[in-house]
Amino acid sequence: MDKKIYLSSPTMHGEEQKFVQEAFDTNWIAPLGPNVNEFEKEMAGYLHVGHAAALSAGTAAIHLALKLAGIKQGDIVLVSDLTFSATCNPITYEKAFPVFVDSEKDTWNMDPAALRKAFEKYPQAKAVVCVYLYGTPGKIDELMEICAEHQVPFIEDAAESLGATYKGKHTGTFGKFGIISFNGNKIITTSGGGMLLSEDEAAIQKARFLSTQARDPARHYQHSQIGYNYRMSNVVAGIGRGQLLHLEEHKALKKSIYEQYKEAFSDIKEITMNPLNPDGEANYWLSCMTIDPGCSVKPNDIMDALEAANIECRPIWKPMHLQPVFAENDFIQVQDGISVGEEIFNEGLCLPSDIKNTPEDMAKIIDIVRKCFGK
Ligand SMILES: *Cc1c(COP(=O)(O)O)cnc(C)c1O
Repeated sequence: MDKKIYLSSPTMHGEEQKFVQEAFDTNWIAPLGPNVNEFEKEMAGYLHVGHAAALSAGTAAIHLALKLAGIKQGDIVLVSDLTFSATCNPITYEKAFPVFVDSEKDTWNMDPAALRKAFEKYPQAKAVVCVYLYGTPGKIDELMEICAEHQVPFIEDAAESLGATYKGKHTGTFGKFGIISFNGNKIITTSGGGMLLSEDEAAIQKARFLSTQARDPARHYQHSQIGYNYRMSNVVAGIGRGQLLHLEEHKALKKSIYEQYKEAFSDIKEITMNPLNPDGEANYWLSCMTIDPGCSVKPNDIMDALEAANIECRPIWKPMHLQPVFAENDFIQVQDGISVGEEIFNEGLCLPSDIKNTPEDMAKIIDIVRKCFGK
């Protein structure tokens, strides 16, 4: 069997263990402690955002963002259609209704024109949740302007785009709330974890309160609200502190992977790499490609060929409006009958983007893809 090549696996450097060891040495093995506090400060400092709450998952961060934005049973929330289910699942935890908004072709993210249309149909919508797919920032100014017109909070799902910037400012720091994830395959990882970001200090304090079972300040256990067990562990936060020291390096390596693919496929006119946003700098979390729909080679052919060589790859996220579980939910597209997200899903795939890939690994992947096109 060939050596396994991964899509995007964790890359540890050693400093992680130093911070974890500190947690063990001081017996701070709990969902609180010095690593948690320092990781929050260090991340807020890196991102230039006021405040951050370290949580057990990015999904937990989205859930708390919605709660803090006042989302209640029966509310409509406008959300990106082309994304991972974690972007919209927490809307349903609150018994609110996700309405899916189509993508644009320029960055693959929420289309401002579709968002406008969504507000025409649902002027009562209470919030917008927008993802930055595969690490490329969306048309943030336009999206935020529409949210401001309708006076609803803009919530950024920056789970995939940690370290990416738009007009010089980090994704996840524009909206009322932003969230990031440290799941196993993200650009930096703590094995599992996430953060909620905001300029609103009181809201972040409230998130810390809700994430630790909403205990009122009293000697006995007293609760006036329903809480959650969502806080990040001090051991996990130690891994995060070590990883954050290497985020810039990971970004540079991811960018180099993208550029190698782009160069290697430049003579195959049916292949287009995933788009970048000229108003920003992606973190290049995953390199993706689409194939012209008229071409006889299909994404499945490439995925089959890579998998046969023990190389991990992945389809594009299947749009939420096509998911059986969301069959009843509305989907807003700019032009009837044309779903940009569905086209990207049908035409695309995610290429192996592991920063530990050697030049030989990259050459092997590229060769397999090129052979699919008879090159
Ligand atoms: C990974 C991811 C999340 C969720 O993060 P977890 O930390 O795994 O809960 C949310 N949204 C998107 C788009 C993601 O890719």
